[in-house]
Amino acid sequence: MHLVDFLRCRYAELSDQRMCAEHVMETGASRPNVLIVEDQEGPRAALCMILGSFYRIYEAETASAALKMLGECSMDLVIMDVGLPDYSGLELLRRMRMQGYNVKVIVMSGGGSVESAEEAMRLEALAYLLKPFNFLEVLGIVANGMKLDVVAPILPAPIGTCS
Ligand code: CA
Repeated sequence: MHLVDFLRCRYAELSDQRMCAEHVMETGASRPNVLIVEDQEGPRAALCMILGSFYRIYEAETASAALKMLGECSMDLVIMDVGLPDYSGLELLRRMRMQGYNVKVIVMSGGGSVESAEEAMRLEALAYLLKPFNFLEVLGIVANGMKLDVVAPILPAPIGTCS
């Protein structure tokens, strides 16, 4: 199965829970903390720009730096790339869960595979985001993740049938 089809099927039943990016602006006074874990400056800066108006942004370039930061500061949501210099984002997520961090997580990937998306879901990631992402998609997924304790819808494309 193609990854995009897998993700579309995975989130199809949740399409009615989609939320608009505007909801971000209704979340009240205190800004939730968002940790962005990505070694590449381009995507990291883009995420900071997209989310910086609504959330307090923390940045880590490596998985080990992210784990250290999680120990020092309470995060509301973590966005992590699969490709990190020290060990993979999925391994980071695995270690986070083992250490009892139940924080909401969005995994992003440049290539992606069904296996890695399945692993991310098994580790209770809210969403698996394929790069390159668009602004509204990211905002919607993060806003959704902040509000709901369920998996966020991920694809802006029309929901089709699983075949
Ligand atoms: Ca990366």
